[in-house]
Formats: sequence, structure tokens, C-alpha cells
Amino acid sequence: MEAIVSLCKRRGFIFPGSEIYGGLAGTFDYGPLGVMLKKNIQNSWWKHFVTNREDMYGIDAAILMNPRAWEASGHVSGFSDPLVECNKCHRRYRADHIEEKNGVKHCPEDNEVLGEPRQFNMMFKTNIGATEDPTSISYLRPETAGGMFVNFKNVVDSFHPRLPFGLAQIGKAFRNEIAPRDFIFRLREMEQMEIEYFCKPDTWEKTFEHLRSEFNVWLFSIGLSKEKIHEVEIGDGDRAHYSKRTIDFEFDFPIGQKELAGLAYRTDFDLKQHSLFSKTDLSYFDEDTKERFVPHCIEPSIGVERAVLAVLASAYKEEQVGDEIRTVLSFVPSIAPIQVAILPLSKKEELINPARKILQSLQKIGRVQMDVTQSIGKRYRRQDEIGTPYCVTVDFETLVDNEVTVRDRDTMKQERVPIKDLEEYFAKKLV
Ligand code: ATP
Repeated sequence: MEAIVSLCKRRGFIFPGSEIYGGLAGTFDYGPLGVMLKKNIQNSWWKHFVTNREDMYGIDAAILMNPRAWEASGHVSGFSDPLVECNKCHRRYRADHIEEKNGVKHCPEDNEVLGEPRQFNMMFKTNIGATEDPTSISYLRPETAGGMFVNFKNVVDSFHPRLPFGLAQIGKAFRNEIAPRDFIFRLREMEQMEIEYFCKPDTWEKTFEHLRSEFNVWLFSIGLSKEKIHEVEIGDGDRAHYSKRTIDFEFDFPIGQKELAGLAYRTDFDLKQHSLFSKTDLSYFDEDTKERFVPHCIEPSIGVERAVLAVLASAYKEEQVGDEIRTVLSFVPSIAPIQVAILPLSKKEELINPARKILQSLQKIGRVQMDVTQSIGKRYRRQDEIGTPYCVTVDFETLVDNEVTVRDRDTMKQERVPIKDLEEYFAKKLV
């Protein structure tokens, strides 16, 4: 983990939030390469689950919602974690993260016996408008799901979708975690990619299996290996109150096997609750059977940052090359921040000019950048470290034979390719 955190900082992927002020726990800022990696992961999810399908409707709902929505969903009364405090050092912990010794929990710092847990609501409260009284209280959404349930009727009324169909959303969510930690694994400000997929009540099992398999397909497509993903069936007593079945997708993170994503069968709980609290009919009329009912819902949900961390952890490698250690991020080309780096061997115009032409032509098909500083060996190392799958070197030979050297990040093999063939050469490799 330390090596990944340090590479992310050094190479401009991810920085501690508000760092020059001493930071703000549970927040991180994305740098130029990190934001590209994150957006590529988001775009790949959106493409897989929304644009490549006929049954999915994207939405982008407001972060601030009418607080009644959070009463309906159960968040106001129940979105809490058990908090324990050390009476000596006053550090606070999530009770379920502290192991018991002989039936007692101790403070990890000073070994003091910890008191009884109390429930701590994790929603960030805020006030809407100029008055600060109980009537103006609202919350920063703790998950994106709510925005989809409250727009169910809007989408049904404007698109008349046939069941099964889903709403999908990518957006910020906020949780006042008791103990944010482990880099971007547990944050107070994060992003989620969630789907609320609606189906007829008697088809939930088939739908659940379909989404489970599609979710795996997508996880593999961003470079996560099968062996590192563990599907864990959550038992009766441990599931959220609304769920009749939940599978957690756990991943072998550098900090251990932990939750990456969840797949939950939420029944008709949410639509019924929102119907009740908003006094709006959220039932669905089935044109085929002429029946009216409240659809059931399956929710695949993943935190963007946990996806980013899983991708970084899977891609990070240190390899012995000769007497040097080579650090590589072996991202799959489709999500690599930069897919091709153009490296003119010298800063002389006679090489920069053809290099720029190649850059412009390849920018039509991918994310391409020019890198001109330092020796070619150092540039290869730098591109390996930021996960660029291909380097194109423009040398003095190029001026004679109109060919360039293409170097593959993973095999480190090099081959000469005619400039005129480059677009075609890369077209298939970058998708
Ligand atoms: P955990 O048990 O780790 O606290 P959770 O079960 O509360 O997570 P969900 O409510 O199911 O998480 O949220 C859906 C997804 O959002 C999680 O699978 C995870 O990827 C992500 N997520 C949840 N909490 C955080 C957080 N504090 N920081 C980063 N990502 C998070």
C-alpha cells in the first residue's frame, strides 16, 4: 500500500485533500493522471451498463434532496455505525473494526478498555437557506440510490420502459465515517456507480444472476483478476434491513480481503417507502398482463475509489530488469490514463515536427501525449510507472525510412512500424 500511495503522489495520480493546510481526513484529490484513470473507469462502467444496453436509463440527480426522502429510506433513523470512544485518549473507533480479547475491546493506542458502543449517524447534516432551524435541515446524500428511486416515476412517464429496466447513476456520496483510513478505501467524500434495476417480483432470481454475471464481466474488463475477487453471500442476520439477498464482491486489497462492491436484492422496499412518504403512486402498469404492481429492485453498487484502488493494486508491479528495479503499472490499455507516449529522441525541430504530426494523428483514436525531457531510458521508466502501454520513439532513422520504434510496456519488446500504418496498428490495441 505504501508503494502505491507514494507512486500516486509522486506521479500526480492522487494527493491528500487540502494538503497545504495539513489535510482533511477522509478526503483525497485527484491529480492530472488520477482524474484520467478515474474517468476512464467511470466511462467504461457507463458504456458497459448504460450505452451498450437497451434497458438502462442514465440519470444525474441532485446531491441535496428533500430530507423526507432520507426518512423514507431509513437513513435518518438507521444509517449509523457503532462508535466506541477511549476514555483516556478520546480516540474514536468503529466498534465492529476492533477485535475483542476475552470478550472485551481495548483501545489500539493505549490498551484502555473501551466503553459500550453508541450508534453514530453517518449522514452529513447541512441547512438549506438562510435559516438554521430544524425545518431547514438537509443532508449530503450518503448514497446515490435515493436519487434514482425518486426519479422512477419521471423515467416511467417520459420513456414508458418495459420491465425489466434499470436506472444508472455515477455521483458523489458523503459519509461521516468514524475512522476514515487506508488511503482511498474508506473516505468521507467519495463517488459511487450504482444501478437500480427493476423487475417483476417473480423474476428477481434470474435478474440477480444476470447482474451478478455482468458485474463480473465488467470487473475483469478493467483488469481485475478472477483470483482476487471473492463473492461472499451475506447471511440473514447481517444484511441491510431492506435486503432479501446480498452478495459482497470482496477484493484482495493490499490491506486484506475487503468489500469492493455489493449486489443487493432490495425487494419493493424503496419504491413502497417513497410512495408512502411522498404520497405518490410509484406502481407500474404492465401492458402485457394488464396488472399494476410495485416492481422489485436489484442494486449493483460500487465505490469509484475502491475500483480505482483495486485497479492500482492489480496493476502495480516491481520487476528486476538487469540490476535495476522497474516499477510498472500494467493497466489494461482501455483505462490507462495515457495510452501512447510519443518520444522524440532529441528536442531538435527536425524530430519534434514529425513527432507532433504523429501525436495529432493518434489523438484521433486515443489518449496520446508527447514526452521530451530526459534520456530515452528515463522516459521509458517514467511511462512504465504511470502505466502507458505503448511508447513511440521518433529517431533520426525516422527521417530516412519514415518508420518509428514502438515499445510495448509489458514485454519491453520493440518493433519498427511505418508511420503511415500507426493509426491502424493502434486502433485495435487501445480499445
Ligand atoms: P463498508 O462495509 O466498507 O462500510 P458498506 O457496506 O457500508 O461499506 P455500501 O453502503 O454497500 O457500503 O456502499 C456501496 C459501495 O460504496 C461499497 O461497496 C463501496 O465500494 C463504496 N463505499 C462505501 N463506503 C465507502 C467509503 N467510506 N469510502 C469509499 N467507498 C465506499
